[in-house]
Amino acid sequence: APAAKASARRKRATAADITITHPDRVVYPGDGITKQEVADYYASVMTWFLPGVVNRPTSVIRCPEGTEKACFFQKHMIRGLKHVGSAKLKEESGAQATYIYPRDADSVIELVQFGALEFHPWGATIAQPDQADRVVFDLDPGEDVAWDRVAAAARLVHKLLAQLGLASFLRTTGGKGLHVVVPLNPGCPWPQAKGFAQAFASSLAQAHPLEFIATASKARRGGLIYIDYLRNSRGATSVASYSLRARTGAPVAMPLRWNELGKLKSGHDFDIHSAPKRLARLRSDPWEGIDELRQNLDEVMDKLG
Ligand code: ATP
Ligand code: MN
Ligand code: MN
Repeated sequence: APAAKASARRKRATAADITITHPDRVVYPGDGITKQEVADYYASVMTWFLPGVVNRPTSVIRCPEGTEKACFFQKHMIRGLKHVGSAKLKEESGAQATYIYPRDADSVIELVQFGALEFHPWGATIAQPDQADRVVFDLDPGEDVAWDRVAAAARLVHKLLAQLGLASFLRTTGGKGLHVVVPLNPGCPWPQAKGFAQAFASSLAQAHPLEFIATASKARRGGLIYIDYLRNSRGATSVASYSLRARTGAPVAMPLRWNELGKLKSGHDFDIHSAPKRLARLRSDPWEGIDELRQNLDEVMDKLG
């Protein structure tokens, strides 16, 4: 069939000389999804996926034997990788370590060959690892929080950021919640990004104590939405847009326009099957303009008070 031919062509074009070994291995046992299907998924969304990960230190979640066996959160270089970039960066301990970063489509497919299912970039690039260029508010609903409250929380965060003069962008995580992403250009030092994120989260929790909590202790989260601002320190990661998740159903972290929030039903509305269909229908990038925005935190802290 012509469709099959076209997809074979696309595969060859995106991953020149990377052989997927064990292509028929089922890596999502509950869903019957194979390693080859994972590679095909990333190949099919590649032009959308790459801008969020290229030249950013990126951890991967590898599940070589599938999602129901051991999975590893890997941030450092693996011997045998030929296409993936590696960058020596300072660790929290002060020691140097060699971090992984995707350079291109081949890097991504090579990581899939090495068992990667999820991709988690820093909010910074290898060129300027000490400058945050993405602040992420990770909205984590506790038990018993209905979806309409999560959606309302994201809408409120969006509105309050706008009142501070900051444009923000929405994504499902492929899990339970949503991410609200604030691009910074030029970037700012990590302590400034974290200070802002913490101050914003705390003031929100203070103003709406029955809706939000901003402290990391899990005990009191029942019925509340935790605004996890801890994604915003040097070395922290958040899931990449269009990344698969190593969870039942092979869900996908999906960027959305703000006007799509109303029809969303959960943080995992999109999966390995529906995400490429959505992208085929899209006429423009839901995060259009994110790289052209010029905004930073310099005058924002004063307004937060
Ligand atoms: P959900 O909507 O279900 O909360 P999420 O991606 O926001 O999905 P969280 O648990 O809230 O998941 O966020 C955890 C974040 O911490 C991940 O996005 C990831 O980048 C990072 N992370 C996950 N596992 C590890 C790990 N083992 N070590 C360090 N960081 C991790
Ligand atoms: Mn989360
Ligand atoms: Mn979280």
